[in-house]
Amino acid sequence: MHPTEEILLGVASGESDLPRRILVEGHLEGCASCRATMAELTLPGGALLRGLDGQEPPSALWQGLLGRIARLPQPAPAPAPDWPSPPVPPVPIPPAMKTRSGTSG
Ligand SMILES: [Zn+2]
Repeated sequence: MHPTEEILLGVASGESDLPRRILVEGHLEGCASCRATMAELTLPGGALLRGLDGQEPPSALWQGLLGRIARLPQPAPAPAPDWPSPPVPPVPIPPAMKTRSGTSG
């Protein structure tokens, strides 16, 4: 019997208790199918990729999307200054601004 995806996820994330982990890891050693499932589950975005099933979006839809994106107002790139801005000196904190101690009341 194969462990469910929930169990595999629990083992992958370290949430399962030790006996279950040992059981599952022992099973994974002899079961390529579950190893593949485990690899998918532990991939970043693996669960999402499985849902897509390798299908690409229809080209017409894709072209429409690209056209929409191209027509979106793009943020204007910041104009490069002709001269380097001078470094800002650190502002010293005047002693009066420091928190006074012992005068609470
Ligand atoms: Zn299995």
